[in-house]
Amino acid sequence: MNYHSRKTVAIINLPALVSNYNGLANLAPQSQTIAVIKANAYGHGAIEVAKTLTPYVPAFAVAFIDEAIILREAGITQPILILEGALSEDDISLALNHNFWLMFHNLGQISWLNQQPSPYPGKIWLKIETGMNRLGIAPEHADAILAQLTNQQLQNMVLCTHFSNAEQLGNPKTSSQIKSLAQINQAYGLKNSLANSAGILNWPQSHGDYNRLGIALYGASPIPTCNLPVKLSPVMTLQSCIIGLRQIKTGDCVGYGEKWQASRPSIIATIAIGYADGYPRNAKAGTPVFINGQLAPLAGRVSMDMITVDVSDIANVELGDTVELWGENLPIETVADYMETIHYELLTRVSARVPKTYIK
Ligand SMILES: *Cc1c(COP(=O)(O)O)cnc(C)c1O
Repeated sequence: MNYHSRKTVAIINLPALVSNYNGLANLAPQSQTIAVIKANAYGHGAIEVAKTLTPYVPAFAVAFIDEAIILREAGITQPILILEGALSEDDISLALNHNFWLMFHNLGQISWLNQQPSPYPGKIWLKIETGMNRLGIAPEHADAILAQLTNQQLQNMVLCTHFSNAEQLGNPKTSSQIKSLAQINQAYGLKNSLANSAGILNWPQSHGDYNRLGIALYGASPIPTCNLPVKLSPVMTLQSCIIGLRQIKTGDCVGYGEKWQASRPSIIATIAIGYADGYPRNAKAGTPVFINGQLAPLAGRVSMDMITVDVSDIANVELGDTVELWGENLPIETVADYMETIHYELLTRVSARVPKTYIK
């Protein structure tokens, strides 16, 4: 039964997704722009997102093979890059059978590759450590690995790295990472891939044969929005509604632990969304919520299923009114600042309890 008693919903605007993809891909016209749809497409629903982007993208990327298998079972046929690569030797043949592109980032994965009965015919993404210190082959091991590969394998290879600071315009770390990868590639002239969203937006010199577009695809900016070279439209709008409304007196407290006290006679709206839905409990008092065309401040602690908001200054508030937590009218970047987190986390944390509605 597809019945929803609450009006709490994540509205996913698929035309906005397509327009973001095309706008961002146009910033790097010489590159193939891979759509990163790990973590259920940053909380937007990987299958719907993949189906929508299929006519436009050369390939998708996810974190690990399980996420890719879900897409294959849903009928997605594009190549899928597995960003963490094979996590066991079994993943290697699985990848070949399903046309998954494996990232190879440690010597164990390389040894699985070398143990194959014949030279691995699939696409090989070789990740080089250039300063992130998370995943990647040390540059001093790269030559030895590349020397073992057949010409055919080298043609099928993409040399890759990941930026730690690309969201900071002009940060020398990014230039040094670009230079490190280029140095290794000098002798080989292999295809390359460096840029994430921030690289695509901030670092044209990092645009490679393939770019890996994540957060910006969803209309969330990894750089200050005033610096954006292209218009991004938020894809997710998180909505709920008012299920309680009360007047309180000066000095009355709201919510668990009496963390918020009215400094004047106030009207408090109770909204049907809480931390079990992915609205973080550490949202500060004052976090904005969009109601009837205005912003109202969060008052008191976030509960599991509800939040409370001071709507004293909002006109004509009624039970049942729609409320936006972030999205089209309230930038998720703004909200994240009040929650001591980033929009990546907010998007990926929206829980399965929140139904999604797709605008096609
Ligand atoms: C998640 C991820 C991306 C996408 O990053 P965004 O900042 O969301 O654009 C690109 N490359 C790798 C290796 C990733 O893990």
